[in-house]
Amino acid sequence: MRFFISLLFICTCLSSHAQNLKAPSDFLGYELGTRFTPHHRVLDYYSYLSENAPSRVRLENYGETNEGRPLILAYISTAKNMKNREKIRLEHLKNTEGKGEPSIAIVWMSYNVHGNESVSTEASMKTVYELLTHKEESLENTLVIVDPCVNPDGRDRYVNWYNQYKNSPYTIDPNSAEHHEPWLNGRPNHYMFDLNRDWAWLTQVESRQRIKVYNKWLPHVHVDFHEQGVDSPYYFAPAAEPFHEVITDFQREFQTTVGKNHAKYFDANGWFYFTKEVFDLLYPSYGDTFPTYNGSIGMTYEQGGSGSAGLGVRTGTGDTLTLKDRILHHHTTGLSTLEIASQNAVRLNQEFKKFYQPKDFKYKSYVLNGNPDKLKALTELLTKHEIEYEWATDKTVKGFNYVSGKNGSVKTDNNTLVVNSDQKKGTLVKVLFEPNTKLSDSLTYDITAWSLPYAYGLNAIASETKVAAKTTTDRNNFEALNLEELSSKSYAFLIKWNSFSDARFLADLLNSNIKVRYAQNPFVMDGVSYDRGTLIITKSDNKNLPDFLDSLRSKALKHQKVVYPTSTGFVDGGKDFGSHSVQPLKKAKVALLSGKPTSTLNFGEIWYFFEQQLQYPVSVLNSDYFNTVDLSEYDVLILPSGKPYAQFLNQARMKSLKQWVRDGGKLIAMGSALKDFAKDKTLQLKAKNIKKDSIAPIPIYDHDQREQIKNEITGAIFKTKINNTHPLAYGYDDIYFSLKLGVDAYAYLDKGTVAYLDGNGIQPVAGFAGSDAQQKIAETLVFGVEKYGSGQLVYMVDNPLFRGFWENGKLLFANALFMVD
Ligand SMILES: [Zn+2]
Repeated sequence: MRFFISLLFICTCLSSHAQNLKAPSDFLGYELGTRFTPHHRVLDYYSYLSENAPSRVRLENYGETNEGRPLILAYISTAKNMKNREKIRLEHLKNTEGKGEPSIAIVWMSYNVHGNESVSTEASMKTVYELLTHKEESLENTLVIVDPCVNPDGRDRYVNWYNQYKNSPYTIDPNSAEHHEPWLNGRPNHYMFDLNRDWAWLTQVESRQRIKVYNKWLPHVHVDFHEQGVDSPYYFAPAAEPFHEVITDFQREFQTTVGKNHAKYFDANGWFYFTKEVFDLLYPSYGDTFPTYNGSIGMTYEQGGSGSAGLGVRTGTGDTLTLKDRILHHHTTGLSTLEIASQNAVRLNQEFKKFYQPKDFKYKSYVLNGNPDKLKALTELLTKHEIEYEWATDKTVKGFNYVSGKNGSVKTDNNTLVVNSDQKKGTLVKVLFEPNTKLSDSLTYDITAWSLPYAYGLNAIASETKVAAKTTTDRNNFEALNLEELSSKSYAFLIKWNSFSDARFLADLLNSNIKVRYAQNPFVMDGVSYDRGTLIITKSDNKNLPDFLDSLRSKALKHQKVVYPTSTGFVDGGKDFGSHSVQPLKKAKVALLSGKPTSTLNFGEIWYFFEQQLQYPVSVLNSDYFNTVDLSEYDVLILPSGKPYAQFLNQARMKSLKQWVRDGGKLIAMGSALKDFAKDKTLQLKAKNIKKDSIAPIPIYDHDQREQIKNEITGAIFKTKINNTHPLAYGYDDIYFSLKLGVDAYAYLDKGTVAYLDGNGIQPVAGFAGSDAQQKIAETLVFGVEKYGSGQLVYMVDNPLFRGFWENGKLLFANALFMVD
C-alpha cells in the first residue's frame, strides 16, 4: 500500500541539444508574466522539456486532485546523475541509518501551495528552463525536484477568475474588480483546506499522495514558494522565532547561509526584503517546518503580491508591482537556493546523516490506550508518515499522564499502542506526541498545541524509559461476524456507540435506508452492558426492506463493526426496546450555509466532513439565494463560523430561523456565528459578563504586542468537562480535550450545558494562552444545546472539526446530527 502509487515516467528518446530548448515565453506564445498560465499549459511545458531533454528531465505523475488535475514532479540534474537517480536516492536514504556515502545534494522546490499566490508556478517554469540551459555546473552535485503546482485546483480557480474579471489592458488601480477575489478565492484546495496547514495531518488527497514521494526522497532542502500582501516586499530565511527546540544548530545556521546568499542578489538589484520576522518555525504542518522535522532545511519564501496583485497593481507607496517583477524575485531565490546547496553539498550530506542519529529525547516511549477505532485512526496516520509503532505486553508503565497532567502509571496489554522516539522518524514523533511543545517565544503565527494523544482522545503516558513491546503491526481487533447469529431468528441487533468510526457506520446504514433506533439510557442485555447512544436495529422496523440482513451483514463487515444479535427486546436492566427512551433515528436532511458571511475554511471543514469523512449527504445553500429556499425541507441547518453575521442574521432572518427551530428544526451554530444568537433576548445563550477593569487596554504600538497577547489564545488545548448523559456527548468519557482558537466567552446555559470550562481548568494543558485570556474563558460554555419549541439550537464555541485532524471532535459533530433530538 505504501508505494501503491504508480509511477509514470514520461520519457521519449528524442535527442536534442540544450540550446534548442524553448524558453517558456517561446513555448507558450506570450511573454512570461503577461498572462497567467493555466495548469494544463504548465503541464504541456514540463512535458515539452522532458521530451526534448529526456536525459536531464524526468516527470513523475504522483497523483490527482479532487477536481481531477494531475499532480507532477520534475526531476532535473545532469544526464549522469539522472541515469543514477535511483542509486542516488538509495544512497541518500542509507544516510538516515548512518551508512551511506552520498555526495549529491537534493533540493525540492514546491510552488503554489496557495493557489492564488499565482506567481509561483510561472516562476517555476523560468527557473527550470534556466537550470537546464545555464546551470549545468551546479547540477553536477545536485538533484533538483520541482513540484510546479502543489494546488492546481486552487490555482486554476484563481487564474480562471482573474481572466474573467481583468480589465483590458489590466489596471493597476487596486480598487478595480480584478484585484478583489470573491468569497471562494484561489488560496485553498477544492475542499477549501489550506494545504500549507496539512503536511502533518494529511487529511487532503493532495497531501496524502505527495507524502509517499516525499518520504522516498527526504530532500536536504525544501523550499515552499508563497506570496504575502502587496505592500510587503520579499521574505526569505532565516525564519522568525519561535523555532521548535528540535531544530538543530546546523538547520538554524544554514537558514542564515541561504538568506545571506539571497541577500547578495537582492542587494545588487536594490530589491527590498526582510528576514527573521513573522514566519516562525513551530506548527508542524507547514511546508517549511514539516520538512525541517524530517531533517531538511525547510524554508518559506514570500513574494509580495497574492490574489490581489493581478498582472500589475499599485502598492501603498505608489510603486507598481508587476507579475514580471514577482517572477524575477522567486526565480532569483530559486537559483540562489540551488547555488548555495551545490556549494554545500558535502556539508548537507554530513549534517543530514547527523540529524538521523539517535537523539536521546527525554521521552523514549509514548504509550496509548483507548478505543480501538481511535487507535486504528492514529496508526493509519503513523503509517502514512512511515512512523513505526508496536503493541505492548502485560505490565505497568510509569510516566507523564496526559489526562491527569501529572506523573502516574498505566496498565498495558496487547491493545496498548507504543510509539518510540528512537526510530528513524523520532524527531517527528517527539514533535507530534510530546504533551506540551516548548515555546521559545509565544508570539507565533499559528496554533501552539497539537499533541496527538489529545487530538485522538486517547489515554496516554509519556515514558522516560523505553517500553518493551512487540513489533507485530498486523493485529486485527475485529472478530468476524458470526453469520449464523445474524440469522432471521434475531429480534434486534446492537452496536455500541464509541467512536467516529461508529458514526460512519451509522451514516452508511441510514444511506441504505436501514432503520435504526438508539438508546437514551444505559441497559444490560445478555450480560453485556450497553451505554447511551447504543444503536438498536430491530427486525420489525426493517421488515419491508427486502435484503435487510444481507445489507446489514455487508455493512458490518465493511466497517469492521461488532454486531450483537439478541433474540428479545426484554432487557435485563434498563429500558426495553419498545420504551420511549429508545427512539428511532431520523435520516436527517442537512443543509450547510456557504458564501458570505461564512469562513471558507470552516465551511470547507464541514463540507469535507460530510463528503469525505462521514460520507453523508449535505445540501450547500449559498447565502446569495438563501432567502428563496424553503427551509422546511431540511431537518438540520449548519451555520459555520465566519465574519460578522449581523447582516445575514438581521431581524427578519432571525425571526424566520427561530420559527423554523420552534417547528422542529435543528440549528448548529459554530464559532463567531454564535454572537448574534447571544444578543437575542428570547434565547438562553449569553455572552459571559466580564468586568471592564479586569481587561488591560489594547495597546496601540507594535512593541506592545507582548501586552496584547495577554488577551489572546491562538490555539491551545484545554481540558473541558463534558456531561456524557447528554446526547451531544454520547460515547465520550467525562472529559474532552478541546482546541481553543480564541477567547469567545459565553455563560453556561441554564439547561443544556454539555461541555464547559470551570473556574479551575482555565490553564491550557498544552500551548499558550495569555493571562487575561485565561480569566476571560473561566466558567464558560464550550458546547451546549438549547431546546427551543420543538427544535434545538446546538452551540459550538470551539471547532471540533478544526483542519480535519481533531479526530476526537468528529463524534461530537456526528452526535449533533444524529443523537441530539
Ligand atoms: Zn502562502
